[in-house]
Amino acid sequence: MRAGIGYVHLIDDDEIEASNLQRQTLFLPEDVGQSKALTAAHMLARINPLIKTRGTVARLDEDNAYELLDMAAGKPDLLLDCTDNFATRDIINRISVRYQIPLLSASAIAMQGQLALFEPQLDTGCYHCVFGSVVLDEAADERTCANSGVLASTTAVMGNLQANTALQYLGLTKNLLTNKLLIWDGSQMQQRLMGYRKDPQCPVCSSPIVNPL
Ligand SMILES: [Zn+2]
Repeated sequence: MRAGIGYVHLIDDDEIEASNLQRQTLFLPEDVGQSKALTAAHMLARINPLIKTRGTVARLDEDNAYELLDMAAGKPDLLLDCTDNFATRDIINRISVRYQIPLLSASAIAMQGQLALFEPQLDTGCYHCVFGSVVLDEAADERTCANSGVLASTTAVMGNLQANTALQYLGLTKNLLTNKLLIWDGSQMQQRLMGYRKDPQCPVCSSPIVNPL
């Protein structure tokens, strides 16, 4: 985000906690209790005044997506999922499929991270095609950063891999992860790519309600 990709819109309804500071590097101790979206947008604008930033304090869902993402003015070039739970990732994936917006999803737990770039407009399959059974697993949803722990360096690595993928996609229209899931394991210092295919039975993307803009 510091590199400057023109316009960054951050949406988050959460507030900064002291326990976030070791891994959420845009925040300072005096920001505790403030809005994450507004504080991060403000800090990015200070770091790089050439980019346009906007922070919105809200929880994105299928009902408010059109308005929150300001799609009357045109749809976003890319959605970046930086959330920490499967339920929200599932919602963002449904928005990606419904409005045919590419989705770059990054996640991190403990010393492991995953990264994928789905392009519903090219029928590559979606987040649900890969993680369908996990999305429906409530126990898995309990394994978030907050209650399972994440090493601060894991989110730093995954955030940078996500930025690397976003910059090349937006700047060079190159998807480095077409039908591939990147798995990074910091405990073994290993990274691997796993192929995936669109699930023809996927309840989200096999016969989606598409709202093309
Ligand atoms: Zn799917």
